[in-house]
Amino acid sequence: MGISKQIGQIIEKSSWIRKMFEEGARLKAIHGASNVFDFSLGNPNLEPPESFQRVLEQVVSEKRDGSHGYMANTGYPETRKAIADYLAAEQAIAYEADDIVMTCGAAGGLNIILKSILDPGDEVLTPTPHFVEYGFYVANHGGLLKTVPTTSEFRLDIAAFDEAIGERTKAVLINSPNNPTGQVYDASSLAALGELLRRKSDRYGRTIFLIADEPYRKIVFDGIEVPSVASVYGESLLTTSYSKDLSIPGERIGFVAVHPNSAHRKELGAALALTNRILGFVNAPALMQRVVARLQGECTDVAAYARKRQLLCDGLASFGYQFVKPAGTFYLFPKSPISDDVAFVRALQEERILVVPGSGFGGPGYFRIAFCVSDETIVNALPGFERVIRRF
Ligand code: PLP
Repeated sequence: MGISKQIGQIIEKSSWIRKMFEEGARLKAIHGASNVFDFSLGNPNLEPPESFQRVLEQVVSEKRDGSHGYMANTGYPETRKAIADYLAAEQAIAYEADDIVMTCGAAGGLNIILKSILDPGDEVLTPTPHFVEYGFYVANHGGLLKTVPTTSEFRLDIAAFDEAIGERTKAVLINSPNNPTGQVYDASSLAALGELLRRKSDRYGRTIFLIADEPYRKIVFDGIEVPSVASVYGESLLTTSYSKDLSIPGERIGFVAVHPNSAHRKELGAALALTNRILGFVNAPALMQRVVARLQGECTDVAAYARKRQLLCDGLASFGYQFVKPAGTFYLFPKSPISDDVAFVRALQEERILVVPGSGFGGPGYFRIAFCVSDETIVNALPGFERVIRRF
């Protein structure tokens, strides 16, 4: 085999994802794409807000020398300033431009954070079910991802974290609103986590960072607010992107924010700039940096996702599916009516419905529905969901 054993094993392990993708392509070829109900990908179906197109055109039409050249690895100063000002107001924390590093999406942000802080064998703890790429990102930089169970409603289980944190723990990585569960962690559990991390950092004599991965922060329902992670813990690193809230995942633009109260503020800034460079990102896309600088606070049509959530939840609940209604994101994570979630997902495929088994997220016995699809897809898929649950 020419490729590395590690990558070969990852390809092998995730082969069912490929199989599902192939099955989707096969079904689409037979029945036509509109007759296959594809809920498998978190690729926003909504177009970016109108303001995005307007600002993009403005930026493209402005002739500015050097617009397409290399820049500081951290990004354009004016973009970092615009983001720092917005974040300072949103989080009530005094972020400055120097605390912001522009990245190739949240994925790029997570990778430069992990590269900056991990030594071989260090552990990163994450509540599970979780975004499956975390394991790969942590392994990319010599670390080990350890999962920590959540409560029956997918909330943070502080006692489980208390037990899991040890001398090798370098960071806790949380994602709220959460992919795949749609859960938003409440302020009191975050405060308890902050307190725990302070205690454990003291006990083990080294900083345990709290990484908040928040690409879905603006996609929340019923008027809820996502509590600030930075306000509960000074050694926190925030990463996010415009992939989901501006519906531009292909543009690869996001950022990392270092907490201004971090004891490691300066060295983290230098490390993140270096890792952006040496991981080959070099800098975040120049054009998009200029665009997002002028779109702080803008967001796609969350009301449309709220409507889709309602359509799906009402339909599935009436057939007897059990789930925690998502407080945010565009994912629903129902219980599989049979314990074998992979078998259940296969049964849904017979109805031309494509979803992802919970096992793929460390949540066996569940499955994930990405409802960032047209209303029509949801409505037309509901009879299939009903027929399958009746069979079991
Ligand atoms: N984190 C979570 C929880 C995600 O769901 C995703 C994408 O689906 C990412 C990070 C990566 O986002 P980006 O496209 O900004 O790299």
